[in-house]
Amino acid sequence: MAILLNPGPVVLSERVRQALLKPDLCHREQEFIDLQNKIRTDLLNVYQLSPDQWASIVLTGSGTSAMEAMMTGLIPAHGKVLVIENGVYGERLTKIAQIYDIDHVVLHHEWGEEFDLTRLEGELQYHKELSHVALVHHETTTGRLNNINNVAELCNKYGNVPLLIDAVSSFGAEEIKFDEWNVAGCAATANKCLHGVPGTSFTIVNRNAIEQMSATAARTLYLDLVNYLKAQESGGTPFTQSIQTFYALSEALDELDDMDGWQQRQKQYWTLMDIVRKGFEELNIKPRLTREESSCVLNSFHLPDGISYQELHDKLKAAGYIIYAGQGGLIKSLFRISCMGDIKQGDMERFIDEMKKIVKS
Ligand SMILES: *Cc1c(COP(=O)(O)O)cnc(C)c1O
Repeated sequence: MAILLNPGPVVLSERVRQALLKPDLCHREQEFIDLQNKIRTDLLNVYQLSPDQWASIVLTGSGTSAMEAMMTGLIPAHGKVLVIENGVYGERLTKIAQIYDIDHVVLHHEWGEEFDLTRLEGELQYHKELSHVALVHHETTTGRLNNINNVAELCNKYGNVPLLIDAVSSFGAEEIKFDEWNVAGCAATANKCLHGVPGTSFTIVNRNAIEQMSATAARTLYLDLVNYLKAQESGGTPFTQSIQTFYALSEALDELDDMDGWQQRQKQYWTLMDIVRKGFEELNIKPRLTREESSCVLNSFHLPDGISYQELHDKLKAAGYIIYAGQGGLIKSLFRISCMGDIKQGDMERFIDEMKKIVKS
C-alpha cells in the first residue's frame, strides 16, 4: 500500500479503518443519533469550544460542501462579503459567492503571496457595508499559513466584521482562535488533519451568527445550515448521512484525543516536515516558503533541475509514495508534500532515501 503524501485523503490508522466495519445503522434510529451527537461534541472539544456559544453541524460531502454551506448559510440576504484570495481555495470562496449571487468584493493576491494588510485596511475603510470577511486559513495551494491574527485585528478595528474561515486543511493541527478572531463560521472536513475518511465535512458556527439567519430564506436545499442545525439539535438529520464515514470520524476524533489533541498533532507534523525540509535541503531542493510562513500540514517545493513532475511522481509511486503536483500555473514548477495521516517517522526517512536515489541518478 502506498504512503499518501497528498493533502487528503490520508493514510488511515488501523483503528480508523476497522471502525468502518461496525454494524449497519438506520439514520432514524437512536444508535445513529448517539453517534452524530458524539461527533458534534467531540468536534467542539478539539478547540475547547463552549456548546452554549458554538455548534457543529455535520454534513455528508467533501470539504467543499462545508465551504458552500458556510458561505450560503451565514451571510444574510443583504449581507456583503470581502473574500481574501491568495490561492485556489480563496478563489473557490469567490466562485461560491458568484454562483449564489452573494454580494461580494475580492482582495486578490498572487498565489502564495502574503496578505497585503495595507490593501485590506483600505477595503475595510472603503466598504463600510461589509457584513463578513471570508478567507482560507491554510492555503493548501502553496502551504502558506495565512496570518489571521492580523486580519482579525483590522476587522475588529473597522466595525467588528466577523470572519468566515475555510479551515479545511488546518482544523485539528493548527491553532484557531474562535473567540479572539470573531469567527462567525468555520468549514472543515473529516479526511485531512482529523485523519478520518472522505465523505463527512462540517461547519462550526457561532450561535449568534446563525440565529440571525432566516429559516425561510435558504439559498440551498441540501446545504441549508439552519435546517441542519435544527434537525441535529433535536436528534435528527434532514437527509441520509454517510454512516460508515461517521464511524471513522468518531474513531479518528478519539484517536486525536488519546494523543492529547491538536497541539500534539501539530508537533508530530513538524517532526515529519522537518525531516522532509532537511532532507531536501541536502539535495538542493528548495522550499517555496520559509518554515515560518508555512503550515505544519503541507509544504511546497521547487522541482529539482532536470526532472519533470510526472517523472518524479511516477518514480516515487513505484517506490510506494504518492506526492502531489502544484495546482494550475504552478504545475510545472512546484510539487507538494503533506504530513497528514498515519505517517511514521520511518516512512518519511525512507521517502527521503528514495528521493536521494532518484535525484542523484
Ligand atoms: C482540500 C481543501 C478543500 C476541500 O476540498 P474537497 O476536495 O472538497 O474536500 C477546501 N479548502 C482547502 C483549504 C482544502 O485544502
